[in-house]
Amino acid sequence: MRINDNYLNLQAGYLFPEIARRTSEFAEANPDANIIRLGIGDVTEPLPAACIDAMQQAVTEMGKRETFRGYGPEQGYDFLREKIAEHEFQARGCDIHANEIFISDGSKCDTGNILDIFAPGRANTIAVLDPVYPVYVDTNVMAGNAGPADGSGHYEGLVYMAATAENNFSPQIPDGKVDVIYLCYPNNPTGAVATREDLSRWVAYAREHDALILFDAAYEAFICDPSIPHSIYEIDGARDVAIEFRSFSKKAGFTGTRCAYNIVPRSVMGTTSNGTRISLHDIWYRRHTTKFNEVGYIVQRGAEAVYSPDGQDQTDELVHFYMANAKIVRQALQSLGIMVYGGVNAPYVWLKTPNNLTSFDFFDQLLNEAHVVGTPGSGFGAAGEGDFRISGFNSRKNVHEAMRRVTENLKI
Ligand code: PLP
Repeated sequence: MRINDNYLNLQAGYLFPEIARRTSEFAEANPDANIIRLGIGDVTEPLPAACIDAMQQAVTEMGKRETFRGYGPEQGYDFLREKIAEHEFQARGCDIHANEIFISDGSKCDTGNILDIFAPGRANTIAVLDPVYPVYVDTNVMAGNAGPADGSGHYEGLVYMAATAENNFSPQIPDGKVDVIYLCYPNNPTGAVATREDLSRWVAYAREHDALILFDAAYEAFICDPSIPHSIYEIDGARDVAIEFRSFSKKAGFTGTRCAYNIVPRSVMGTTSNGTRISLHDIWYRRHTTKFNEVGYIVQRGAEAVYSPDGQDQTDELVHFYMANAKIVRQALQSLGIMVYGGVNAPYVWLKTPNNLTSFDFFDQLLNEAHVVGTPGSGFGAAGEGDFRISGFNSRKNVHEAMRRVTENLKI
């Protein structure tokens, strides 16, 4: 058999293996060092009690013949889709209906799987932010929407839109036509958010150029500023040009439980090779029901409980917990005179490396002097060189200890 040659264009998974290599080398040479990892974007705190209770009840139901459930609807149970539509969208004035929501097992899969319904090869021009969540880029390479990478790590055929401190993390709208635009707000890795005006410019561009926005709002729950939109559908006209991705992973600690959803409004259209306009909802529905068999009933009941009064209080508490960590990180770094961004409406703090160090040189310094692991910004794209990400996802004790070591031991 022949393999998909596009996979050969992927650069070796460089970032996380390299971090792991450097960390284990340091740990071997310094067996007594208590290394604190503020590098990964995984949650640490237990699930909200309301979700646990709901899942336990669902387990009991599954153990009785009268209440047992087998296969459910592929696009998710109505009880969950209706709660999401009401609480996440209609409550914010967004014209989104339960039957436009697809429950899935993760935004990582969703953002990759959506490419199944786009024309293969280089039929579409794809634009991504730089730095960027690597899944968007790698899945496009796998799908053949991009060619080999150049020396800076940029893949041929993709349009990279720099979002850096220089442009206040608000990238320039492309001059020419692109077909698909990935936006992620609040942003991983920079922690930046998009204002209503920023998003309105993107929606206007997409409407004018018949482009599709893929809006990843995995971190929307962390927005604290009431003027910042949580959903692209808060912008007039977005219903016609945007697909949104949401996840319970960070909002409710579901990284290991797995539940997410995407919204494909019935009004978003694409064009067939012969120029016919067709609803993306209909072909995504076909794809989803053919290749996916629902998230388990027990997990969907757990996700539903996020919208109970107790669940809402408990998820708010979780979010505040991580945001308080991010604040501790910001303050510690600022006290050293380091320029920090993010960490205010997002759990990630993005910093400019001191003394113009490369991202990996600062990684080594932080590891050697404070025994703390972070993520080099260059791993998220060429425009992230000289920057660094520190995550607020950890226990309070670890964050305090890490920042104590940073402020006391880092020689800058
Ligand atoms: N989107 C972004 C921007 C992320 O940072 C992550 C996880 O870190 C995901 C999606 C993946 O979310 P999920 O756990 O739902 O697959």
